Amino acid sequence: MEFAILANVLAKMEATKKRLELTQYLVELFQDTPNEVIARIVYLLQGKLRPDFEGVELGVAEKLAVRAIAKSSGMPIKKIESEYRKKGDLGNAATVILEQKTQTTFLAEDITVERVYDTLYKIASLEGSRSQDMKMKYISSLLNDATPIEASFILKILLGTLRLGIAENTVMDALAIAYTSSKENRKILERAYNVSSDLGQVAEIIANEGLDGITKFEVKLFNPIRPMLADRVKSESDAIEKMGKRFAAEYKLDGERVQLHISNEKVILFSRSLENITSYYPDIVEKIPNMINASEVILEAEAVAINEDTGEFLPFQELMHRRRKYKIEKAVTQYPITINFFDVLFHNGKSCLELPYEQRRKTLENIVKENDFAKYVPMEIVTNENEIEEVLENSINSGCEGLMLKMLDKPYQAGARGNYWLKLKREYRNELGDSLDLVVIGAFFGKGRRTGRYGTLLLATYDDDQDVFTSICKVGTGFTDEDLDQLYQILSNKVTIKKNPRIDSDMEADVWFEPELVLEVVASEITLSPIHKAARDTIRKNAGLALRFPKFTGKIRIEKTAEDASTNQEVITLYRGQKKISQDKSQV
Ligand code: ATP
Repeated sequence: MEFAILANVLAKMEATKKRLELTQYLVELFQDTPNEVIARIVYLLQGKLRPDFEGVELGVAEKLAVRAIAKSSGMPIKKIESEYRKKGDLGNAATVILEQKTQTTFLAEDITVERVYDTLYKIASLEGSRSQDMKMKYISSLLNDATPIEASFILKILLGTLRLGIAENTVMDALAIAYTSSKENRKILERAYNVSSDLGQVAEIIANEGLDGITKFEVKLFNPIRPMLADRVKSESDAIEKMGKRFAAEYKLDGERVQLHISNEKVILFSRSLENITSYYPDIVEKIPNMINASEVILEAEAVAINEDTGEFLPFQELMHRRRKYKIEKAVTQYPITINFFDVLFHNGKSCLELPYEQRRKTLENIVKENDFAKYVPMEIVTNENEIEEVLENSINSGCEGLMLKMLDKPYQAGARGNYWLKLKREYRNELGDSLDLVVIGAFFGKGRRTGRYGTLLLATYDDDQDVFTSICKVGTGFTDEDLDQLYQILSNKVTIKKNPRIDSDMEADVWFEPELVLEVVASEITLSPIHKAARDTIRKNAGLALRFPKFTGKIRIEKTAEDASTNQEVITLYRGQKKISQDKSQV
């Protein structure tokens, strides 16, 4: 398939923000795509080469791309850098530069999607000392044969700056229309995506096998399942109202969620955001298979740091020490954990997702043999407010965050945040009602004791409709000196020359970052704001939402990607919830 077809559609998509138009362009693109290329097209549209959980990173630095453009165009590096500063995007700068190209290439090879994809894949696989030169050779070989517009999109994909404003849902809408003529079938595609986390694979199946194939799509070992998430409740009485007469109350442990895929030969661990985290937990890989009574299984558990002498749970931050590439063995002995199982998703060749909770819990208890290292998450069946209160007390006293309440007769809803699971935390009872997980998008330099570090951070929510990060507050409290040092170290590596186009903020930050790092923040209130962009125009025209008196809780949410941060929809719900409480209070 000619790469020009894709490049032309990408150019049209960049020029609009309207979801209907974007979907229509995608439908036309898919209709022009041969089945054997569809998966690659879907990955490229998302700026990827493979699904996230495979961890294939392009890893090309701007400097290298500048050199490649210089090589292909015959222009000096200085001129390319100055065009880049003018345009704010290297891909767009390359279009201008290559249009002025004086040397023509004879016998230019046609650029196909297959060739671009294969070359990018080779670039991603290169490692070692000579890899930079090889990468440059590959990039300039593509640029030599590409038209200026093709070159611009190749570079955007390479540098991770392709911004189309399409979330997975839009891609699935378009796949449903292109291959089944009905957007309604999106739900069936969504199910397949939720159990495979691989949109390319879903596209390939719908293209080759149609609706029949996608309906039969099943859970597979080593393909991570998108996690089921919980809604919030504020009180025991709210919980009873939503959950009914009898339900499970499990401790909500403050650790890292781990999805374990285990066969006789192999163990792979995925994080909440489906990153492969096997290498951080050699102790789980070594010990757990011996404690499992099954040949193939997918389990969910919370890994929690513990005090080995007392067995007490320690806060989540202790697990940060495991995030290292080297000397992991030392971290394993210095920062021991227990692994606390709470669900089973697949067992000996069969999906367990459709089974009701009660049956899954029973199966789980038959599969895992408990000991000092492996445990089940403590669970009680509760029927009234007092019983919930008691389990909550016990859970808080043993160092947990609160409770996860689960309906006994409901299936596991992969990838959904719904009412079958609810979370009840102590902190929900005061002030805002919950903490928020926000993305660091910018910073302001500190003064006084904070000179040389970032004194205040600019934070954003995720707008999952537009796929952008909208500013919601500046935060300067809650940081210890250690936090400030650590954040400065982490964030210095994320500084960008220009504000990333996915950031929506009118503030003038001293520095801008790649929107990647997620922090947990509490606040006293959500207010309307003329400045901030979160949920802009939703509650009131020309106003967004902002946090009043935000404070960092000390938690860096390493297990969350920026797209897992709190969404504008969640903030709107909290805003409306606080309105309701103040109305209720004034009526008392
Ligand atoms: P939070 O910010 O409250 O951790 P979240 O956005 O990560 O929430 P939620 O669905 O809101 O995800 O809360 C579920 C999280 O709580 C899970 O991702 C998991 O890490 C953790 N957890 C702790 N104990 C349990 C449990 N018993 N059952 C399910 N999840 C649990």
